[in-house]
Amino acid sequence: MSDLILFWHRRDLRISDNTGLAAARSHSSKVVGVFCLDPNILERDDIAPARVTYMIGCLQALQQRYAEVGSQLLILHANPVQAIPRLAAALKAKAVFWNWDVEPYSQERDRTIIDALKEKGIQFLDQNWDQILHFPDEIRSGANQPYTVYTPFWKNWISKPKANPVETGLIASLQNLTKAEEEIAKENGAIALPTAKDLGFIWDRDLVIAPGEAPALEKLEEFTNSAINEYKEQRNFPAINGTSQLSAALKFGAIGIRTVWIATLETLENSRSEETESNIRTWQQEIAWREFYQHAMYNFPELAEGAFREALKNFPWQNNEEYFQAWCEGKTGYPIVDAAMRQMNELGWMHNRCRMIVASFLTKDLLINPQLGEKYFMQKLIDGDLSANNGGWQWSASSGMDPKPLRIFNPASQAQKFDPEGEYIREWVSELRSMDAEYLVTGKIPPLEREAVGYPQPIVDHNQQQRHFKGLYQQQKENILDISRI
Ligand SMILES: Cc1cc2nc3c(=O)[nH]c(=O)nc-3n(C[C@H](O)[C@H](O)[C@H](O)COP(=O)(O)OP(=O)(O)OC[C@H]3O[C@@H](n4cnc5c(N)ncnc54)[C@H](O)[C@@H]3O)c2cc1C
Repeated sequence: MSDLILFWHRRDLRISDNTGLAAARSHSSKVVGVFCLDPNILERDDIAPARVTYMIGCLQALQQRYAEVGSQLLILHANPVQAIPRLAAALKAKAVFWNWDVEPYSQERDRTIIDALKEKGIQFLDQNWDQILHFPDEIRSGANQPYTVYTPFWKNWISKPKANPVETGLIASLQNLTKAEEEIAKENGAIALPTAKDLGFIWDRDLVIAPGEAPALEKLEEFTNSAINEYKEQRNFPAINGTSQLSAALKFGAIGIRTVWIATLETLENSRSEETESNIRTWQQEIAWREFYQHAMYNFPELAEGAFREALKNFPWQNNEEYFQAWCEGKTGYPIVDAAMRQMNELGWMHNRCRMIVASFLTKDLLINPQLGEKYFMQKLIDGDLSANNGGWQWSASSGMDPKPLRIFNPASQAQKFDPEGEYIREWVSELRSMDAEYLVTGKIPPLEREAVGYPQPIVDHNQQQRHFKGLYQQQKENILDISRI
């Protein structure tokens, strides 16, 4: 057995502020990173080219960082269940370390790997929670139950002291593999990092955030120096660049969550008014939403399979294929919905307000199963993340943990309120660019004018569909009551 520890990166594509990597370094100076391109994930049908492109870019940056500190990041492209124990055994590593992940697939995979490592007599350390500020067991109700409602979760979560960024002084120098060990690594699956294109994912546009730790830190600094101070109001307007766009960096751990948190505390300390404080707090609440959904996925993995609330289980969704296609392509005839879908199709990112609008529209107006929308989002989003995406969809479909039973967004009121001049609509729906704002935000564009510019007629009537949805929902609730009486 050598002194080597393999550090298996998954959603922590950075060196600094990495809890598991720091733990590995405290056990040995010979730490080598490994990332496994997992065909079980890459060959699924909900993988976005923008996301893979971003991930590969982060891996490239991470390889560079490893080289700077004297070690390296090995790349595998195989099922990690076999590939990780095999590589560790071949290199006679004394241990494999990694950071914990809440997703059901990861948990099952990790359990199998733990068994394989044990069998080979290789130690492991998997108990680092790196992605989130508090691990799920820390945030429980008075009755020691996981929270299913955000507000009490937030109160408990914010009251707890939070860890500082991890000291990474030691990681400034690591020992690398010997030449002979490098050969062994190659014989046991280590390959050169492929491009996203090599993996079958083509993305030609700029990404909303450049990959790697340095651009993420820059975004954080830029955001906490300016937009955070007006976040509460500005975050709702999709035409304004009022949010951080850090979601992909947080998903892949290109930036450490403790680093993000301390930046908010420093900004709070420097704030000069209650109003600024309240803006910063609002952003902190979004960070807590992210954790709320990760805790929810950990505590209730069945969320990944469908509706949480009884009334939305077995809901008679109509799943009209033409409607679904129109929604995906941004051709519903509802300008704000179409602008948002086109933004996502083109950028691989969509503004949060618009994610809520289009999700409500798919479920409450088109009566389409939210799981179809959830999957389409995963096929497109650079930040597509099971917990956050599922949480957002369940919230919008009224099928999740949210105590407010029926939230229906009216696309016109949303546009009037949050895109009053129609700027966002004009940016993304080019055929409507020269129309009056009034038309754009109310959606009341005369049929002939729609025809003239090649913009579709509304595929459904919002008011009628809303009544229809409410009727079906009521019926479902009554059915549940009937069943419970049996
Ligand atoms: C239907 C729907 C689907 C969504 N799918 C995803 C997804 O796949 N991945 C994803 O990261 N977010 C998702 N969100 C949440 C949110 O829309 C994005 O996190 C946000 O728009 C990303 O932009 P930002 O980084 O500028 O956010 P900011 O406003 O700057 O927020 C900071 C960070 O907080 C987190 N965050 C913010 N809002 C939420 C939220 N409502 N739920 C969970 N975390 C949040 C994100 O990590 C975000 O980067 C979804 C929301 C909805 C309504």
